[in-house]
Amino acid sequence: MKKAAVAAVAVLAAVLAALLAYDGIINKEATADFFAMNTYASAKITGADSEECAALAEEITQSLDTDILSRTAENSEVFLLNKNGGGALGKKMRGYVSVLLDVCEKSGGAFDFTLGAVSDLWNFGGNPSIPDSAALSDALSHSGYKKLALAENTLTYADKAAVIDFGAAGKGIALDEIREAFAEKSIKEAVVSVGGSVLLMGEKQFTVGIRNPSGNAGSYIAKLHIPAGCVSTSGSYEQQFEENGEKYHHILDPETGCPAKSGLLSVTIISESGIMSDALSTACFVLGHEKGAALAKEYGCTAIFITENNEVFVENGSKDIIEITDGAYTLI
Ligand code: AMP
Ligand code: MG
Repeated sequence: MKKAAVAAVAVLAAVLAALLAYDGIINKEATADFFAMNTYASAKITGADSEECAALAEEITQSLDTDILSRTAENSEVFLLNKNGGGALGKKMRGYVSVLLDVCEKSGGAFDFTLGAVSDLWNFGGNPSIPDSAALSDALSHSGYKKLALAENTLTYADKAAVIDFGAAGKGIALDEIREAFAEKSIKEAVVSVGGSVLLMGEKQFTVGIRNPSGNAGSYIAKLHIPAGCVSTSGSYEQQFEENGEKYHHILDPETGCPAKSGLLSVTIISESGIMSDALSTACFVLGHEKGAALAKEYGCTAIFITENNEVFVENGSKDIIEITDGAYTLI
């Protein structure tokens, strides 16, 4: 071979090796599985910073829980607000509270993040049982978002016994914080799930399963084909117990302090924002199909309702995004 040809082959080989190395970097995958916010979480990231981001997803979720949102971790921001009956809010907390108060208002009180004392009595996260009715009405009398007043950066509880609880929105907030942190990193795709809330980042069309509301944790009844965003599902299957032949679950009707009976098995919300998808999935579960659809529309979110008759409704969005994979369920 002539010298020029040898040199050309060498250059080509070097370019190919560099391309392969580059491909290896931008498609580098990393995963993390962890337990946070009382639930299982996982992250799967592709990109040059994938390892750093997988670790970051866990770090952000854990510290958001213990330092900010937990109502049991002593000295978390929420713990102190509950202890002191309000107080000054940091910029982030002010943002969360004002979004949640808006969902309380717009849902007509079906969403209410002041039910902490009522949730405590049911103890879904521990050893649940039906609360004593006098204790339940007492806890309920100290609940209600209208007891909260947000002025400038200060939250005041009109009733110092009110207990705010981020159980319905904390997982979505974690996703928003993770997305913000990832924006400064070099990643191609990310799928982060915290309990029933999932963050999708990247240019492609993602496939997300909708859990079988009557089956076990690993089974799904449908696939969603959707672009980047946040998806949250609230279902009566998540935390429940049976007593005297009746099932009780953790999504409460603020009017009664008892598990909401709205004819639904689950609600899935798709939104650009995690706090919104998470809060709305809980709100829409309490409201039921018709009123829930109206609320989702007001916020410009697509909602998928699964009724107790195994009927599936897609509201404020195209049915083309959903593919039912379990014959026991019917897309209406
Ligand atoms: P999720 O799993 O996101 O639907 O949230 C359920 C959690 O939110 C419960 O475990 C409670 O901590 C809290 N919660 C229950 N009922 C309500 C409600 N009506 N509004 C707001 N938060 C609620
Ligand atoms: Mg929720």
